[in-house]
Amino acid sequence: MDIILGTLAFGLLYVVLQYIQKIYKDRKCLEDKVLTAYREGRYKEGHPDYEHVIAHLGICKKCRERMGDF
Ligand SMILES: [Zn+2]
Repeated sequence: MDIILGTLAFGLLYVVLQYIQKIYKDRKCLEDKVLTAYREGRYKEGHPDYEHVIAHLGICKKCRERMGDF
C-alpha cells in the first residue's frame, strides 16, 4: 500500500514539476531567430516550438511588438 501511495505521490510531483517547467519556458522571451522563423512560417502546427511561440505571444506584449517591428 505504501509503495502504491509513494508511486502516486512521485508521479504527481513529476507532473507538477513538468507543468511548472512549461510555464517557466512560456514566460521566457523568444529569441530573434525564433520570432523570425515563426514570422516566415517555418513553424507549423506540430513543430516542437510552435506551441511555445503561440503561448508566449499570448502572454507577452513585448514579443508581440517585436513581431511587428521586423
Ligand atoms: Zn516575450
